[in-house]
Amino acid sequence: MKVLCILYDDPKGGMPKNYPLSELPKLDKYPDGQALPTPKNIDYTPGELLGCVSGELGLRKFLESNGHELVVTSDKDGENCTADKELVDADVVISQPFWPFYLTKERIANAKNLKMAVTAGIGSDHVDLQAAMDNGIDVVEVTYCNSRSVAEHIVMMILSLVRDYHNQHRIVNEGGWNIADAVQRSYDVEGMHIGTVAAGRIGLDALRKMKPFDVHLHYFDRHRLPDSVEKELNLTFHESVESLVAVCDVVTINCPLHPETENLFDEVLINKMKKGAYIVNTARGKICDREAIAKALESGQLSGYAGDVWFPQPAPNDHIWRTMPHHGMTPHTSGTSLSAQARYAAGVREILECFFEGKPIREEYTIVKDGNLAGTGAHSYSKGSATSGSEEAAKYKKM
Ligand code: NDP
Repeated sequence: MKVLCILYDDPKGGMPKNYPLSELPKLDKYPDGQALPTPKNIDYTPGELLGCVSGELGLRKFLESNGHELVVTSDKDGENCTADKELVDADVVISQPFWPFYLTKERIANAKNLKMAVTAGIGSDHVDLQAAMDNGIDVVEVTYCNSRSVAEHIVMMILSLVRDYHNQHRIVNEGGWNIADAVQRSYDVEGMHIGTVAAGRIGLDALRKMKPFDVHLHYFDRHRLPDSVEKELNLTFHESVESLVAVCDVVTINCPLHPETENLFDEVLINKMKKGAYIVNTARGKICDREAIAKALESGQLSGYAGDVWFPQPAPNDHIWRTMPHHGMTPHTSGTSLSAQARYAAGVREILECFFEGKPIREEYTIVKDGNLAGTGAHSYSKGSATSGSEEAAKYKKM
């Protein structure tokens, strides 16, 4: 079979000769008891760069020794891109949310052999899920592989926004020492009201990680958490997102992107937020209205915005979130630390082993199966598509 794998570019200076750490900490399981990925074997060293083109998710030896073809490319946008040409006869396509190959309805129509789309990570909104359902293409992702990586990033971003770290770091880099400049927007997080939109694997972990800062914790979700968890974290549940944003100093967004959540944070909702609140969005860029966020930062309705997710990706060089005031954006990195890469590479290998051997793929990895949302997909997504509009990604010029 032909496996097409779309990965982000190698480091500009070539693959690293060595890494800061010689090994990764050993993890036994995820917090809810779910097992870490369980491939029969791996052909890479955990802790090495696997998510870029030369890293190949550590799959080449495994695939070729089993008689399959592997094509890896980062060329995924614009007319005549390599990914489009290779997709035509591919059986399996693997893409990452960090460098998403937008598997639109049109692309799916051209992919006559396609049986499965694998997300090397979490969040399959780059696949038109409705078109996948309509065309009998299964969609799977490596549920939980980087949820806790993202939660760590959220904590980092909440602290760095509220304490105004970026500004202080810049002053030092520029040779300065004006303390008043450095602290005129800097606060303690202690005592603040922190809320998450969605308390799934990431949202709940972010709440748990923020608890020791002595803050007041809030959440909004379609399903309520168990009573014991609400008590443990002294959590306030909100029946609506409007109710949550009205009282929170910091709002972190942790729901998948699907038709229900696309453009959720528009100008209307942002204006219902507590004045001067902060948003941390590591879920998906399209959940927030691009222009409305920039406008709210200009007006002071928002004091800060951080996250690592954009729409489209890569973000065009002139994307307004690169230059808006008081932002703490990174490229899409939170779920692709070297630690996370080792887990999602193992998860992809596990999925492929099951697929080739005709064994069932874990229920928790399943988003679309046999023409329907299933497994995690049935719980966390809704029907329809939130994939359109990605053409602008072709405007990004490598620097
Ligand atoms: P989970 O499936 O564990 O959690 C998703 C949660 O979102 C569920 O609790 C679900 O609620 C909730 N939800 C879905 N729709 C809505 C809605 N309309 N309103 C409120 N809540 C909603 O996934 P994770 O926590 O692991 O990941 C969440 C998302 O984070 C991913 O889908 C992805 O987009 C993003 N992500 C980003 C990464 C990055 O690198 N920046 C890496 C990994 C993930 P319920 O199930 O109760 O219906």
